Amino acid sequence: MGGFAKGFISIFGHQPLIMVKGGAYILLLHLQGETRVRVGRLGEFTFPPGWYAYVGSARKGLKARASRHLTREKHARWHIDYLTPHATEIRVVLVPSREPPECFLSKHVLETGKIVVKGFGASDCPCPSHLAYLGESSIRRTHSAGTWCNSPRR
Ligand SMILES: [Zn+2]
Repeated sequence: MGGFAKGFISIFGHQPLIMVKGGAYILLLHLQGETRVRVGRLGEFTFPPGWYAYVGSARKGLKARASRHLTREKHARWHIDYLTPHATEIRVVLVPSREPPECFLSKHVLETGKIVVKGFGASDCPCPSHLAYLGESSIRRTHSAGTWCNSPRR
């Protein structure tokens, strides 16, 4: 386990987590400085500093999948696995659901952010990307709106 400041946030409280094992999640991660990362076969990219939102899903074991993203030592299996080891802070928003609204959520995070890597996390769906760059200020704005984030210490 690395030294992430981390936290789970369930937007529907704890009850649905017990009843529904799968769902979608939004990973909020912060890069302290400009970071050059090789993202598997997609190639090498320069990620500007700031907050990123990544949307993923797990049919079963949503919490286990989300926990996996919070560990540094792991075999890179998904695109996001190349990026998380560089993060200084990671937050996870769990969205328990029988039909994970993964692409619906990524459409919305892309409306507030920018695409850095085309096709990131979206190999088997029509989305342009499942990773959105939010910059430094979006998280604070989203937090003050009280929607899907608790307070990062920045
Ligand atoms: Zn998608």
